[in-house]
Amino acid sequence: MKLTYEPVIGLEIHGELLTKSKMFCSCSADYGSAPEPNINICPTCTGLPGAMPTANKKALELAALVGLALNCSINKHNTFARKNYFYPDLPKGYQISQYELPIAEKGWMDVTSPLTPLLKGGGNDSLLPQGEGLGMRVRVRRVHIEEDTAKLSHEKNYALVDFNRAGVPLLEIVSEPDLRTVEAALDYATKIRAILRYLGVNSGDMEKGVLRFEANISVRPVGSAELRKRTEIKNLNSFRALARASQYEIERQIKVYESGGEVLQETLGWDDARGITTSQRSKEDAHDYRYFPEPDLPPLKLNDAWIDAIRIQLPELPEAKTKRFIADFELTPSEAHLLTSELSLATYFEEAIKHAKSSPKIINTWIAGEFMRNLNESNVEADSVSARSLAQLIDMVTDKTISGNAGKTVLTELFKNGGDPAEIVKAKGLAQISDESFIQEAVTKILNDNPSEIEKYHAGKDTLLQWFVGQVARATKGKADPVMTKELMLKGLEERRK
Ligand code: ADP
Ligand code: MG
Ligand code: ZN
Repeated sequence: MKLTYEPVIGLEIHGELLTKSKMFCSCSADYGSAPEPNINICPTCTGLPGAMPTANKKALELAALVGLALNCSINKHNTFARKNYFYPDLPKGYQISQYELPIAEKGWMDVTSPLTPLLKGGGNDSLLPQGEGLGMRVRVRRVHIEEDTAKLSHEKNYALVDFNRAGVPLLEIVSEPDLRTVEAALDYATKIRAILRYLGVNSGDMEKGVLRFEANISVRPVGSAELRKRTEIKNLNSFRALARASQYEIERQIKVYESGGEVLQETLGWDDARGITTSQRSKEDAHDYRYFPEPDLPPLKLNDAWIDAIRIQLPELPEAKTKRFIADFELTPSEAHLLTSELSLATYFEEAIKHAKSSPKIINTWIAGEFMRNLNESNVEADSVSARSLAQLIDMVTDKTISGNAGKTVLTELFKNGGDPAEIVKAKGLAQISDESFIQEAVTKILNDNPSEIEKYHAGKDTLLQWFVGQVARATKGKADPVMTKELMLKGLEERRK
C-alpha cells in the first residue's frame, strides 16, 4: 500500500513596526519617504565602532501590544542578543535580536481550514480537502524584536546599499509547526496581517516589503507524530507566493520520499516566474549564529503597570468583531468576515447603520455588493462617500422613493462626483412614482398599443407579462413603481380576456 503524507507547516512572519524612529537610534524609520538613499543614518545604524544602541520605547510598546493580541504572555524580564552573520546589508556583522528571552511567547491564534487534507503521493492535484472548514488553534511560539537590514540593489557588475532601512524596528512572529494545510497557513497569515493593521503597528503593504513570510515545511506519513527534516522558504512577499511556494514544496518533498530519497534541511528561495523553490544554502542551526547576550543593551525590565497600560489599548480585534456582527446584526459568518477584514470597512458599516432606518442586513448587501464594486472600479478612498450618504441612499430605496436600479445610479454618481443623494435623485429625475393614476395611464397606453401581444398572452404565452411590465418601465424611464405596475398590468390583461 502506498503511504499518504500530510504537510507540517510553521510560519515565521516579519513585520516592520510603524514607529517614528529606528529601533536603536533616533534616525527616522520612515525610509519609504526618504528623498534619497543614505540620509536617515547615524553611527549606530551604520555600525560604526563605539556607537551605542538604546532601545526604542514605542517599539517595545507596539511589540507588547502584538504579543497581547496574539494571546501571549509578556516576559517581564527579556533580553537582547547578537545574531552573528556577515552580509553586506548588515554593517555591524551582527543583527540585534532577541533569542533566549523574547518580549512575548506562548500565545495562540484560531484559524479555519478544510479538514486535514490527505496527500496522495505525487501528482499535481494531490491535495484533497476533506469536508467543511474546521477551526483549529495554532500555537504562537514567540514574538520578538529585532532590527531590519539595509536595502541592497543589485546592478549589473556591482550592488548598491541604502542604509535608510537599516535598524528599522522589526517584529518576528514565530508559530509552532501546527499548521496542516496550505489553506490554514494562508488563513493564519491573513489573520496576523489583519491584526497588525487593526493595531496600527504595520500597514500590511506587502508589495512594499514591510511584511514578509517564511514558510517552514516538512511532510510525514499520515498518522505519524514525528517531525521530519524541514526546509525553510525565505522572503515570501505575497499571499500568492506563500500559497504557491508551500504547495510546490510539499509536493516536492513527497516525491523525494517516494523515490526513496531524503529531504535535506535547507534554506530555499522561491522563483515566482518559474514556480519552483531553489536551494540557497544548507540551513544553519542556531549555534551557527553564535548568539550571545547583547552587551550594549541592558535586559528589559517590564512591570505589571506597564503591561496593563498596554493591555487596555487593545482594540476590539477582527475575531471578536466578527462574532459580534454575527450575533447583533444577523449576518452570516462569511458576510461578517468580509466586513471585518478591514477595520475601516467594519467602522464604515457600523457608521452607516447608525444613520440608516434600513436593517443592517440590507446595508451589508449594499456595502458588500454595489459599494465594493464602485470602490474597486474607482481610485478613491472608501470614505469619499460618507456613511451618512450611503445610509440616506439605501433608505430611499427601502422606502421606495427610488428603485433599486436608481439607487445604483445614485451611488455611482456619489463615487464619481460626490454630492447629496436627495439632490442627485432630484437632478436626475430618478424619483419613483407610485401614483396609481399615473401608472394606470401608462399601462393602458401600452395595452392599447399592443393588441397582438395581448392575443398571444391570452393564448397562453405567460412570459409576455414581464415584457408588458418592461414596456411600462421603458415608457416611464424606470420611474413607475414596478410592483404596482405589475399589479395593474395583470388586471388590465385579465379585463381584456373575452
Ligand atoms: P530556527 O529557524 O531558529 O532554527 P526553529 O527550528 O525552532 O527555529 O523553528 C523555526 C520555524 O520552523 C517555526 O515556525 C517552527 O514551527 C518551524 N518548524 C520547526 N520544525 C519544523 C518541522 N519539522 N516541520 C515544519 N516546520 C517546522
Ligand atoms: Mg528562521
Ligand atoms: Zn541611526
